[in-house]
Formats: sequence, structure tokens, C-alpha cells
Amino acid sequence: MKGISVSNGVAIGRVQIVSKPKLEISKKAIEHHEIEPEIERFEENLQQVLGDIDHLIENIAHSKDDKDILSTHKMILQDPEFIKKIKKLINNELLSLEMAIKIHFTDIVEIFNNMENDYFAQRSSDYEDVAYRLLSQVLQQKTDFLENVAENTILIMENISPSLVTKVFAKNIGGLCTEKGSKNSHSSIIARSMNLPMIVNIPDLLKNVKNGDLIIVDGNTGDLIISAKEELLLKYNGILETEILEKEHLQKLIDIPSETRDGKRIKLMSNIEIPQEMKQVLSVKSEGVGLFRTEFMFIGQTKLPSENEQYEVYREIAEGCYPEDLTIRTIDVGGDKLSQLLNIEHEINPNLGCRGIRISLRHDEVFKTQIKAIYRANIKGNIKVMFPMISSVGEIHKVRQIMQECETELKRDDQDFYPNLKIGAMIEIPSAAITSDMIAKECDFLSIGTNDLVQYTLAVDRDNSSVEEYYQPSSQAVLRLIRMTVRNAHKAKIKVAICGEMASEKKYIELLIGLGIDEFSVSPGRLLMVKNEILNVNFKDAESLDERIFCALEEVE
Ligand code: PEP
Ligand code: MG
Repeated sequence: MKGISVSNGVAIGRVQIVSKPKLEISKKAIEHHEIEPEIERFEENLQQVLGDIDHLIENIAHSKDDKDILSTHKMILQDPEFIKKIKKLINNELLSLEMAIKIHFTDIVEIFNNMENDYFAQRSSDYEDVAYRLLSQVLQQKTDFLENVAENTILIMENISPSLVTKVFAKNIGGLCTEKGSKNSHSSIIARSMNLPMIVNIPDLLKNVKNGDLIIVDGNTGDLIISAKEELLLKYNGILETEILEKEHLQKLIDIPSETRDGKRIKLMSNIEIPQEMKQVLSVKSEGVGLFRTEFMFIGQTKLPSENEQYEVYREIAEGCYPEDLTIRTIDVGGDKLSQLLNIEHEINPNLGCRGIRISLRHDEVFKTQIKAIYRANIKGNIKVMFPMISSVGEIHKVRQIMQECETELKRDDQDFYPNLKIGAMIEIPSAAITSDMIAKECDFLSIGTNDLVQYTLAVDRDNSSVEEYYQPSSQAVLRLIRMTVRNAHKAKIKVAICGEMASEKKYIELLIGLGIDEFSVSPGRLLMVKNEILNVNFKDAESLDERIFCALEEVE
């Protein structure tokens, strides 16, 4: 079977299909005299579930993401409207408690699903989760469907959420395959950072595999092989052994400086999404963090993070990086994701709507809180800040002005801070690349975000697997924009980094160095592989650089 390879590496193991057990409701209606006991049963079970969630938040959830999801579930269950509605269904319609819960949540999920919007689709899965949790409590059925996941198995699921990737990874599984999903989703990015072989979007996967099948997951090609013949198994065992040797080889590169064979130094940094990833950043001796996505503090929260809360997070990571730099990216979310917190209207096309820097400029109180926290956390002077979704130099002027106001207010309030905060623009919208000469003059560095640059240049949704074939990072249009950005940055005597996923795809590394990129920022799990490639690049014997780039491009295509 074939799917989309998300994370490289081969895994051979037995299939374990993981899905939520179906909950059967036998008693659908009640008699009049059962109303009161049924409502009491609701209140008891509700308290039990809320208590269970508290226990999970305090004792089991190991990441902030997990905690946030659980807190959202708690909020849904504590909503007075929800409680009123269930009681009404029992009282007026004479429905059993389990039927009332089912009907209530099915309605809500349907409403969200019909909205055809990423954020609401995510919300609907929260409601599904909550319904499942409450129903399994009422029906006295177990819900920990990951409990029996065995080590080294190949996990098969319909789809997977980012927080679940972290959970299954902790179970030491061999590989992960899903019937749905896309290459650039956050689940996929996390799997990549963990070097977990993973293939997504495999049509009819669940129909074609069964528990206990011996399968091969080829994360390098996207092939999933069922009932492999002896010969093929032997071949893949060979590949697996080579990969183990390669991993050992990569470990030896940790202390070697990242430099091409013809002597060009390429700074090699890490991308992180959550503070817990710092452990891996340090273990591969990354030259700091080139992209710290700060969204995890904002998405799915019941309130905005305070300046102090943010300050603590930034300071701790900056200390972990020291003496290398930490590059903090200010929030990059669509208005849809912050709608509950900021009272934002629903947008039909959030990718082209008020997201990234646009949100920050529109809600400058939120932006200022983040900027001040960054200024204050920059105790050792190793923090830089960069801004997502810049589309013109005017936004940089506005940002500079707000930063100035933040400095004045911090001084007024007698707060300690390091004034020389370096700023960078992310180049991820074609208009920013085209006007990068103007933007570069106003910045201390640029960072090319190819995930979005490819999406916006080629008009192809990065999360829509049905148009995957159009998502071509090496297309002439994208390469010209990268080249243009590099030239303009160098003319302005500033460095240019690349922090999109393209930077950690083997086939593009030589090409990107040829195009003049100075710094790479990649998932820490891929950093040593990227370094290995950099160490092999040699432009010395090239007749001309352009010719060399042309050859590299032919290899890519
Ligand atoms: C990018 O767009 O390339 C990028 C690094 O940002 P994100 O993936 O967070 O949109
Ligand atoms: Mg982006």
C-alpha cells in the first residue's frame, strides 16, 4: 500500500490497530418515575468524570498540550447550558441519560463539522472526545485504548492528534501509519522531530490490515508492505541494519562544526514547538534555536498567557540555549484559533485572513504583552525575535514602533531588560520575498518559511493531501523567490536562514546552500542528518555556481 511519507526510516513489526471501542447503548428511554434517579445518575457520573480529568491534569498529563486539552474538556462539561440541556432531554423527552448525552453531542459535532473550517473541525473532535469520556463512564466501559500498546509494534490508526503522537512515542513503538492525515500537519512535524517512521493518508488502510500482521513501514518512500516475501524481508532487514549504522555514524558528527567541504560555514539550529524539545536540542549540540513557535501557549486556552507566564517560559529556554541564540517567533495563529479569547468573527478563509502578524497588530495589547515578556527574558542578550506572515515593510515599521513603546513602558515601570533586541522577518508570503530588498534594510536577519512560502506561491493548501502533487518546494517560482530573498539580504549585509521543512529534506540541502542560504533551522531529530549532508557539499570544482545549482536541481527533479 502507498501513503505519504511523513518521517523517514524503516520499521518492521506486528500490526496493532488502535481505535476507540464502540459504545453500545441498550436502554434508550425511561418511564416517568425514573426521571429523578436518572438526573441524579447524571450528576454523579458528571462529578466522577470531572474528578478523573482533574486527576489526569495533576498526575498524568506530561505536556502542556495534554493539560490544555483536558482543561478544555472540563470546561465543556461544566457549561451550564450543557447541564441544562441534558436535564431537559431526560425530563421532557423521557430519554435515558446515555441517549440524552449521545443526542446532545451528535448535534453539536454535526454543527461544527458543517462549518468546514479547520478550527471548528478541531473543536468537533474535542466534543467527540468529551462525549466518549462521559458515555464510557455512564456505561462503565474503559477508555484507555492505548493501555495495551506493545513495544516495537506498528500502530495503525484512522488519524492521530499531536498530543497522541507524543504519547504513543513514549510507548516505544516501531512505527505509525494512519488512513488520514497530511505531511505538514503538526502531528507529522512532531513525528519527524522524534524520528518515528510514519506514513499517513493510506487509502483503505484499516480495511486491509489486521492485528498481528507482520508489516514493513518504509518511511523513506511511503510504502507499507503487508505479507512480504522472505526475500523482501531480508532486503528490508538489511536497510534497517544500515539505518542503525547510519544513526551511529550521525552520532559521531555531534562535535564536528557544520561546514561544507569547500569551507562555507552553515549555522545549524533547531525548530521547537514546546519547551520539552530543548532536551533533544541540547543532545545534538544544536547551535541554538532558529524557530521557537509560541502558539502552544495560546491555542486551546481559556485565557491569554500573562506577561509573567510567558517571561518564565522564554527565560528558561534562553538559559538552556546560552551561549547560543534563541529565536522566538511571535504568535502565528489564525483569528479562528483565538476567537474565544479575542472576540474575533469567524472567517471563511482563515489562511488568507487575519493571522500571524496581522492579529498581533490588530490586538496590540496582546502583542505588547508578548514583546515585553521577550525583552525581559533576554537577560543574557541571546534572544532574537521574528515575526510571521510579514507581507510588506510597512508591518516592520509598525512593529518597530510598538517595540519602542514597550521599551518606554518597561523603563517607566522600572523593569530590567536588555534593549538591543535583534529582529527578523519571516519570508513566507511571495510579496515579502519580492520586496525583501526593502524588508532586509529594516531587519537584523531574515528567515524563509518555506512551508507557507510554497503554499502561497503555488496556491496549494499545505494541509490538503488531495493537492499534494502541486506542493513542490523545488518549483522554479519558489526557487526564484528564495534566490531573490538571499540576494537582497546579502546586499543589506544581513544573514538569511531557512526554517521550513524543506531545509531538512536531504535532496534540497545542497541546492539551498547553492542558493546562498547562511543558516538552517530544522527539527532537532533531523539535525545530524542535515549536518551530514552539509559536510558533503562541495562547490569548489563547480565551473560556475549557477551551473552547479542547475545540476543540483536536476538531481532533485
Ligand atoms: C513556515 O511556514 O515555513 C514555517 C516555518 O512556519 P509554520 O510551519 O509554523 O507555518
Ligand atoms: Mg509559516
